[in-house]
Amino acid sequence: MADDRFHVYDTTLRDGAQQEGLNLTVADKIAVARHLDGLGVGFIEGGWPGANPKDTEFFRQARTELDLKHAQLAAFGATRRAGVKAADDPLVAALRESAAPVVTLVAKSHDRHVELALRTSLQENLAMIRDTVSHLRAEGQRVFLDAEHFFDGYTSNPAYALEVIRTAAEAGADVIALCDTNGGMLPDELAEIVHDAVQTGARVGIHCHDDTGCAVANTLAAVKAGATHVQGCANGYGERSGNANLFTVVANLQLKRGFDLVPRGALADMTRIAHAITEVTNVTPNSHAPYVGMSAFAHKAGLHASAIKVDPNLYQHIDPAAVGNDMRMLVSDMAGRASVELKGRELGYELTPDTTKTLVERVKDLESQGFTFEAADASFELLLRDTLHGSRRRHFEVESWRVIVERTKGGELVSEATVKLYAKGERIVATGEGNGPVNALDKAVRLGLEQLYPELAKLELVDYKVRILEGTHGTDAITRVLITSSDETSEWATVGVAENIIDASWQALEQAVTYGLLRAGREVS
Ligand SMILES: [Zn+2]
Repeated sequence: MADDRFHVYDTTLRDGAQQEGLNLTVADKIAVARHLDGLGVGFIEGGWPGANPKDTEFFRQARTELDLKHAQLAAFGATRRAGVKAADDPLVAALRESAAPVVTLVAKSHDRHVELALRTSLQENLAMIRDTVSHLRAEGQRVFLDAEHFFDGYTSNPAYALEVIRTAAEAGADVIALCDTNGGMLPDELAEIVHDAVQTGARVGIHCHDDTGCAVANTLAAVKAGATHVQGCANGYGERSGNANLFTVVANLQLKRGFDLVPRGALADMTRIAHAITEVTNVTPNSHAPYVGMSAFAHKAGLHASAIKVDPNLYQHIDPAAVGNDMRMLVSDMAGRASVELKGRELGYELTPDTTKTLVERVKDLESQGFTFEAADASFELLLRDTLHGSRRRHFEVESWRVIVERTKGGELVSEATVKLYAKGERIVATGEGNGPVNALDKAVRLGLEQLYPELAKLELVDYKVRILEGTHGTDAITRVLITSSDETSEWATVGVAENIIDASWQALEQAVTYGLLRAGREVS
């Protein structure tokens, strides 16, 4: 179990799941919980049992299927209704029956919300908090309290907001998490209020939303002011602008402030975990996310590249390995010899000055035609190999290809491709059908080559992006295609550029297959 002196509390499965477009099944929630446990967070809020059937089911399945190593599950719910006993309230019963070791109760701490939204008296709201907390404590559960709209409430009526904290703490709540529910706070004013809340003697936590872009900064300011419990969501998920990104918060506190929050080895796995969670949520990962984004340690400018070669630490705030990320050199026309050399070394090639010079010229020439190598590492590596060998070397040569797109009488669209190739001294003619021309070409190539190279069966086209580039010097617009392929263990990207979209796709496809064969250990003889 994690150290109790400082809590890392994840609310992805409850608050994070409010994100527009995010929809998690029970199985998804179990999968996300496992990843969060792998990171070593202390608490995972599973949802609101009783109020939401899916969440009730999550807690039921979690009892048998979740074998948590670090984290404890927390069930989220509200204080009892006005005018009834906590012991008689069915929603409070659902929290007990969840069997979660921790219950996080949400309570109003803003006087106007008590009167206008809850439509009860300020005194009854305090009684609801006292009764529900002490009831659940007596039943053997640990209780945290989320003080909703705390900061706006404090501004409206500080004495009452602080009274909510005292009441909950006296009734036995271990932590009072101050919630910036509307997300409108800025770090300096938030820190002052947290400081006042800490003076009550209660243990204080922090829950921030990112509406001002300050959720992480606010969380850090609260910790500085005395909060010892931080809430947040994986990848900053949450409604509106999201919640505080728990990964950023943890990395900041652990690497910059010396807190011992998650095991070192787990922190070094954070980039993988962040991406694994995006696979479950089906939300495209933010490549610019701090610490864990693909671009978080990517360097481009030529001026920087030469110095990075001397000492990478001059241009990065931490060693990317601490969070499981990597420094990447982006090869672009802004970069010069140094970044091409560095990129070559990153890929495992030592380049002579002459090869580097030739390669830089080829990159510049291709980029002026619309190619980009920043997002197409595999195309760059093929170009590098061709330059090293002094000639273009492939596992197969193309004689011709053809695609037909037909709209049938029934209104169905069918694409059919024929490719004619030479490989290992054989002439191959293969046909493939697909739901689109690129899909048909992909199938035809692989069908044709699979007898000679069975490992191509594992190869999969996972992403296809098209961009129309503005024509320059009076030429027509040209099309750039980026293809991402995978072989179960890794992914690689290739690029093609042409006036015709199918031609551009073909170039990227042909390189994707070539690179896949190289990855499978097939050298060109
Ligand atoms: Zn919230």
